[in-house]
Amino acid sequence: MKAHDGMYIGGEWRAAAGTDTIAVVDPADEQVIAHVPAGIAEDVDAAVFAAHEAFPAWAATPPAERASRIAALRDVLVARKDEIAETVTAELGAPLQFSQMVHAGVPILVAGSYAELAASYAFEEKVGNSTVYAEPVGVVGAITPWNYPLHQIVAKVAPALAAGCTVVLKPAEDTPLTAQLFAEAVYEAGIPAGVFNLVTGLGTVAGQALAAHPGVDLVSFTGSTAVGKQIGATAGAAVKRVALELGGKSANVILPSADLAKAVGVGIANVMGNSGQTCSAWTRMLVHTSQYDEAVTLAAEAAAKYGDRIGPLVNAKQHARVRGYIEKGVAEGARLVAGGPEAPRERGYFVSPTVFADVTPEMTIAQEEIFGPVVSIIRYEDEDEALRIANGTVYGLAGAVWAADDAEAVAFARRMDTGQVDINGGRFNPLAPFGGYKQSGVGRELGAHGLSEYLQTKSLQF
Ligand code: NAP
Ligand code: MG
Repeated sequence: MKAHDGMYIGGEWRAAAGTDTIAVVDPADEQVIAHVPAGIAEDVDAAVFAAHEAFPAWAATPPAERASRIAALRDVLVARKDEIAETVTAELGAPLQFSQMVHAGVPILVAGSYAELAASYAFEEKVGNSTVYAEPVGVVGAITPWNYPLHQIVAKVAPALAAGCTVVLKPAEDTPLTAQLFAEAVYEAGIPAGVFNLVTGLGTVAGQALAAHPGVDLVSFTGSTAVGKQIGATAGAAVKRVALELGGKSANVILPSADLAKAVGVGIANVMGNSGQTCSAWTRMLVHTSQYDEAVTLAAEAAAKYGDRIGPLVNAKQHARVRGYIEKGVAEGARLVAGGPEAPRERGYFVSPTVFADVTPEMTIAQEEIFGPVVSIIRYEDEDEALRIANGTVYGLAGAVWAADDAEAVAFARRMDTGQVDINGGRFNPLAPFGGYKQSGVGRELGAHGLSEYLQTKSLQF
């Protein structure tokens, strides 16, 4: 695979400060497909400096002009969507069709939405005898994970640019090629030098240097809750703005009046897409006791049908971790009805679509984020119990509710401690704010809420 051996800083590919590299591995066959430079503190310094230099002019660029640059970026992503999908498939392992539809398709929608929002957002309003301005926060340090490698970049960079901020990105070490492609797209879109900068590298080196850099005004992080807590603490100590999109353990609540087959089928597909590596995945399926056995049969069938269509997990560490969780589920007394801990193929980091029945709410597999193709089916006796179970984790990122009519589902969803809920299989909306309650995070991404994260408020009185 094509790879750059430098960092994208100040509008050009510059030699890395150090000599170490990161090997990029195709998780489907465990082959090394490319190397990228492993950034160090000097690279981060140079990138933050470039972003800082570019900030005043970009912040002063009229929103309509920023909007047209973001629209140009969207157009480049459209023109290069096949290459993007192939790159994501090569380094993440997602099946090509999923990469085309989701990994390449969603960032196009999100970039398009910010081209429109940049042009239409009220960056200035009158409040009594004051004029209130929404001004860009400054230099953004963006740290992204590998599970939706382009979406998570665009969900930070597009609103930051719309707001008038400049950005330094440290992408996940497992998926740097998609990030390099994005940097090429930024260049092709004519976004001015220094407005977007890329430093590839390890989280513990380049990521930490970026999060702690005094020249960064806002840190936007997506990833594990463990690293998010550290980043939040570092940012807090420096009185720096921070946005955290962390883990989840979302509930798919199937009320007795729902279309059971549909709710179970969509629920299984929701988890198996991207091999379960989705922070908002509905990994706990909550079913009324009267329908429990039927739901288990339907779920096992749906998971078995997935079989070979599922991609591998991203790396050997995740592979071992997910299989360890499956073993733990068995050890704690849950009943395997599909899949299991055995690797289904000799090569590649594959895990079979796995379904557990007889899961109780306090089991490890019902509490911790597994980040693999594993669904736990939990029984409830009445709605109050379903709500207690749904709300009974440290997380609160997403969820689903199914009922005969939307009003019944909405009434339940309003009682859930979670940031986003799909009602009766509701469709993805790129303008809907996404983010967590409780330990799932701080702040929101997407839409106008996502844009406002990158703005700060100034009032002038007359
Ligand atoms: P992670 O370590 O939190 O990675 C997220 C990003 O943070 C990566 O760019 C990572 O770099 C960087 N990073 C790591 N340590 C850092 C530090 N001390 N300071 C600054 N940046 C740092 O997540 P992971 O290790 O890839 O995955 C572990 C678990 O996290 C998964 O099993 C899953 O439960 C959860 N996860 C959640 C999401 C989500 O969307 N909420 C996404 C991915 C993973 P490196 O790539 O070099 O580690
Ligand atoms: Mg990590």
